Amino acid sequence: MVDPAGLQAKLKALSDAYAAQLPEKLRQIEQAWEQLPRDGWDEEGFQTMHRMVHSLTGSGKTFGFALLSDVARNLEEYLKQLAQSKAVPGEEQRRHIQVLLGELHQVVTHRDAASGDQPGLIAVARPDRKASGCSRIFVVEDDSEQAEELKAQLSYFGYDVSVFNTLADFRLAMQANPNVVVLMDVNFPEASQGGIEMMKEIQQGRDIPVPVVFLTAYDVFSARLEAVRAGGIAYLSKPINIGSLIDKLDVLTSTQPAAPYRVLVVDDSELLTTYCATVLEQAGMMVKAVNNPLNAMESLLEFAPDLIMIDMYMPGCNGMELAKVIRQLDAFVSIPIVFLSAESDLDKQHLAMGLGADDFLTKPIQPQHLVSSISSRVRRSLKLRSFMVRDSLTGLLNHTAIKDRLDHEVAQTKRHGTPLAFAMVDIDHFKQVNDTYGHSAGDRVIKSLARLLKQRLRETDMVGRYGGEEFAVILSNTDGRTAVRVLDDIRKDFSRLHHLADSKEFSVTFSCGVADVSCFGDATKLCDAADKALYRAKHTGRNRVMPAGTPTVSGADFS
Ligand code: GH3
Ligand code: MG
Ligand code: MG
Repeated sequence: MVDPAGLQAKLKALSDAYAAQLPEKLRQIEQAWEQLPRDGWDEEGFQTMHRMVHSLTGSGKTFGFALLSDVARNLEEYLKQLAQSKAVPGEEQRRHIQVLLGELHQVVTHRDAASGDQPGLIAVARPDRKASGCSRIFVVEDDSEQAEELKAQLSYFGYDVSVFNTLADFRLAMQANPNVVVLMDVNFPEASQGGIEMMKEIQQGRDIPVPVVFLTAYDVFSARLEAVRAGGIAYLSKPINIGSLIDKLDVLTSTQPAAPYRVLVVDDSELLTTYCATVLEQAGMMVKAVNNPLNAMESLLEFAPDLIMIDMYMPGCNGMELAKVIRQLDAFVSIPIVFLSAESDLDKQHLAMGLGADDFLTKPIQPQHLVSSISSRVRRSLKLRSFMVRDSLTGLLNHTAIKDRLDHEVAQTKRHGTPLAFAMVDIDHFKQVNDTYGHSAGDRVIKSLARLLKQRLRETDMVGRYGGEEFAVILSNTDGRTAVRVLDDIRKDFSRLHHLADSKEFSVTFSCGVADVSCFGDATKLCDAADKALYRAKHTGRNRVMPAGTPTVSGADFS
């Protein structure tokens, strides 16, 4: 029987043990400080003290002592500054250190007031998680026609855009302190560098500057320099290349936080799997616990973990046997496998390493150790995997990866009876784009379609670059009819985008075929059906979305 109360008590016990060590830790820091010579620089002594303070900074929060961490960080920062100058601390500096040590002492002595929380494990984020999380854009441009055009172009990429034609209106809107990215014209009727001056005013007194991109026809070094001083992240010349602007905005904003790491824990002890789940979930990961190793394969396919933790000794099938079986599956050849083992298993550990284990965790597992070793393994493996599965031009899934995903999704759909649609997208007359505007303009068109698809589809949908100017989209939980509608909206917006090559503007269209899984049994048939529908879309005039198996046409014929 799981005992959550006991588990909380376990975590609490860890926190108590940590608290009990604090007075001794503080005593050691104070001692290190007293032993530092007053008449010379003792590098080693200083480093020792710095290390001890640093360890408090890191560990305090882990065990629920946030205030301790904060106070230790102040001291650590100050010590770091001193270490950089390597100057023997003078009277005033010594006094400051004494004050900070005094604060630390206070927190440790009155730690009951400082803690009381459950151990708070440090949250572990996927490396690609972005901070700002805002997709609101303020366009400040006195030429209202240009402003509205920019707004329209950005809105195709899913941005929520407000336009201000005067600096005064913009200033008023900024008083509400909104979380926005600003696109600022430089030259205004009020002043030739009015946009830059306004941003300097807005940035004053802010800890975190408002992200701003300057847009201008006035490209001289002095203006660029002032723009940087006003917090400018980029300075783009008009006419604006929407591709490079979106590149910048994609970095500055994020549409969705990245999904959490997924960890499968296989251990016959329910208490241990629950313990691991509690600790890892607290750090922001998703955990699936399996107590019977014979059920592990099913969970593996369903849960699609980023990492697997396996107990070495389990009844029915031991950890090494299970790892061997997993490694024989193509889809899991490279997934990190971490064994849980007791210290006495050294020989076994070596043996298991030979079978493809990536790491060992020794029981009992400290929460922080568990979180850090699991997250670093997952991070590294995701990075490696992204090189294997991503297309380098667009960052989309590559041909093999999207086909693998389709196999997986079709199998899932069959199991659960949920709807699924698959679409093939191909840019129209792309050869002409290359021939007329050059290959790199062609590349930018491919990137802009990739971005548009990614931004307009849901997080759960999957987009791949199937070939040169061909894309594949898997829409989960979506029937064919809905998929046609969604893709047709994207088709319309794509056709309205203005691409730019050597100051010449042009637009491009795509054709698309959509197949619904309920009409086509397996992934190969689904793929063939979407391809045939695409072929029909091309041959009935292009710039349209064609559902498989019916002659219905949506979209106009522009050919
Ligand atoms: P259709 O409307 O029938 O699809 O005509 P199309 O010209 O788009 O089709 P076709 O398959 O004849 O030509 C595709 C062109 O795409 C040929 C190839 O040179 C170009 N292409 C393929 N990959 C890339 C790429 O990565 N970058 C660029 N710029 N062009 C590419
Ligand atoms: Mg084409
Ligand atoms: Mg093609």
